[in-house]
Amino acid sequence: MAVYESVTDAIGQTPLFRLTRLGEGIAAPVYAKAEFLNIGGSVKDRAARSMILAAERDGHLRPGGTIIEATSGNTGIGLTIVGRQRGYRVIACVSDRSAPEKSDILRAYGAEVVLAPTTLPAEHPDHLFNVVRRLTEEIPGAWLANQYDNPANPEAHVHTTGPEIWEQTGGRITHFVAGVGTGGTISGTGGYLKKVSGSAVTVVGADPEASTYGGGDGSPWFVESIGHFVHPETVEDLWPESYHRDVVDAFERIPDRESLLTARRLAREEGLLAGPSSGTAVAAALRVARRLGPDDLVVVLLPDSGRSYLSKLFNDDWMRAWGFLEEPRTPQDDEPTVRTVLRTHQLVTVPSDASLADALAVLRTAPGGVAPVVVARPARPYGVVAGEIVGSLSAAAVESAIAAGRARPGDPVTGELAAPLPTVGVGQPLSSAHGALGTEHDAALVLLDGRAVSLVHRAELDPAAAGGGR
Ligand code: PMP
Repeated sequence: MAVYESVTDAIGQTPLFRLTRLGEGIAAPVYAKAEFLNIGGSVKDRAARSMILAAERDGHLRPGGTIIEATSGNTGIGLTIVGRQRGYRVIACVSDRSAPEKSDILRAYGAEVVLAPTTLPAEHPDHLFNVVRRLTEEIPGAWLANQYDNPANPEAHVHTTGPEIWEQTGGRITHFVAGVGTGGTISGTGGYLKKVSGSAVTVVGADPEASTYGGGDGSPWFVESIGHFVHPETVEDLWPESYHRDVVDAFERIPDRESLLTARRLAREEGLLAGPSSGTAVAAALRVARRLGPDDLVVVLLPDSGRSYLSKLFNDDWMRAWGFLEEPRTPQDDEPTVRTVLRTHQLVTVPSDASLADALAVLRTAPGGVAPVVVARPARPYGVVAGEIVGSLSAAAVESAIAAGRARPGDPVTGELAAPLPTVGVGQPLSSAHGALGTEHDAALVLLDGRAVSLVHRAELDPAAAGGGR
């Protein structure tokens, strides 16, 4: 049993677990590297330690200095643990889309947390990345860790994760599967494994279906911390320098529902409580392993713990509300769900850069004359992402504004926007969906896999009026 003089020394040396249940019937063994067992709870402890030590060595970080980072949470936790041990102030700037538990953990370790949006064009001054740059300029002695472009991030995995996996598998690994956020993990670990094996190891990226790394359209998705998102108004889109694209041989593109349900299975069937990006990675690893034989050996990396997501993917109500879960709540439960009243018509939407006249033409074709207004953007093949809905518009409201002379047909719709419609998930029981309407709404958007696919009206959701079972 190990004894450490400092928590910093305890980072790494994580175990592999064979996925016996999820891998049942698959010839190739699949082993999961449990990075959530790191001292700060994630794979990013490795990158954090490596970046801080390199910055001290290079003179970027001096005694009394301040560490600043834009982080989905885990890198910030690693930087805070290591940074505080070494006497630095740490400011973690977190995306307002990250799970709130992560910010609580950051504060618990002594970080100052700044929340900023990431759903803006990259050039917008309030975008997380620009907030971070501004803070770094303003605070004397500040150093921006910049995991996205810092070579010490992938380097951490060249020196630790890669060699550990090679040693743990006795050089038998044939396939390495990991998600790609900054790309540090897959580039460093994959690069090392390729080098040490004479390119015998195949490296597979596990990517959310919509992410651009694996060929998606860059629209938002629900698995935090991996993939590459592109806002439609972003002018110049750059991939992080920590991502070495030549290391990745292939991508498996995993839909959100498959990622989330796989993470839930991982906890229930393997006793490994890991986060959503682990679900993506394991789903990809299982796809890869199904195509392999008994002489192959797959290692999949589980970046963090499921404890940070208890209010999301491990919460059945959350899963249902976003349209990711449809099974009955209990075997006896036969209350009809939104699915039973779902109509098949395509959702009518108004783009946010439309004029009122254009919007009226669209609204007259919408059931009930009401439609969501979505961020103007090129067509997204996967449907309207809930996070890109900026408001709602009704034909009656637009017509009366024009008739009263408060608006002209050529005016932009943005001046007449009402609040976004409430949302309900396809797997939500009718009574709870009806409750979501409150008193002020007559319709709700129906979410399937986090995307708005249809509209339901109050009468359809009335549990008293609904007949039949699920
Ligand atoms: N999963 C989780 C939960 C993470 O926090 C991160 C880091 N952002 C990743 C995956 C991706 O790791 P990397 O940045 O090394 O590509």
